[in-house]
Amino acid sequence: MNICLFCKIISGEIPAKKLYEDDEMLAFYDIKPMAPVHFLVVPKKHINNLLELESSDSALIGRLFYKAQELAKELGCEEKGGRFIINAKKDGGQTIDHLHIHFLGGRALRPKLASWFMG
Ligand code: AMP
Ligand code: ZN
Repeated sequence: MNICLFCKIISGEIPAKKLYEDDEMLAFYDIKPMAPVHFLVVPKKHINNLLELESSDSALIGRLFYKAQELAKELGCEEKGGRFIINAKKDGGQTIDHLHIHFLGGRALRPKLASWFMG
């Protein structure tokens, strides 16, 4: 039995506001947006975090980032930009143990890395 929240979103058991889907990834809006544009890109394969990658996952990670930047541009963030973030494990502030890329845009975020979530 898989109890991972993002696996449940991928399987459709839990609803999400989907932005993009193909056979290997899903992008959806964050339920608690920290910026006017805040979405997540997740692999359909359950990977706990960026510190638990297999070497065969490296190309997949590249495709996740490629899609994230395409979506960021589609959502109007090409000119002003935004922030692509991956939190990893406890010290990184990861709360959902299924690898995900955050994109935050649509407002100026503070440049200090440590305060990215507050912006
Ligand atoms: P992290 O802290 O990096 O693990 O990020 C987890 C993110 O998942 C947070 O920004 C949450 O707001 C978001 N989140 C939690 N539950 C849901 C959900 N059901 N749908 C969409 N986003 C969610
Ligand atoms: Zn999962």
